[in-house]
Amino acid sequence: MPKKLTEADMALLAFAREVHPRAYAPYSGFRVGAAVFAGGEIFQGVNVENAAYGSTICAERAAALAAVTAGHTEFDAVAVVGDSEAPCVPCGACRQFLAEFNPAMRVIMGGRTDAVDALRLDELLPEAFVRGYLDQDDGDDDA
Ligand SMILES: [Zn+2]
Repeated sequence: MPKKLTEADMALLAFAREVHPRAYAPYSGFRVGAAVFAGGEIFQGVNVENAAYGSTICAERAAALAAVTAGHTEFDAVAVVGDSEAPCVPCGACRQFLAEFNPAMRVIMGGRTDAVDALRLDELLPEAFVRGYLDQDDGDDDA
């Protein structure tokens, strides 16, 4: 059941939709645009594929890199628009990557149709691996 989106959700989705055509996807043909809202600013990204497939980067991570480069490490929301008919969800790697910058951020999703959806990131990725795990004392005193 699609959720009701706010005006802010729709605005962020429009920024993702704006850059979607600029995706570089000559191999899959699956274009994705993304927009991160952080520190009151919008950061856009697209997926950029590579002949060495493993070097490809997703739109969500491209947008996140732009936000971090601008000095923002606390994200409020991310919007994703893909070539799918259904609203495009972030891949698993992007869910983990985004969780670093707020596991509870809002994720707004769109596709080729008017169908849209929104979830919290921790609904898409429960129990994300976050920095708190690295801070835990392992009980071994010789460190
Ligand atoms: Zn991804």
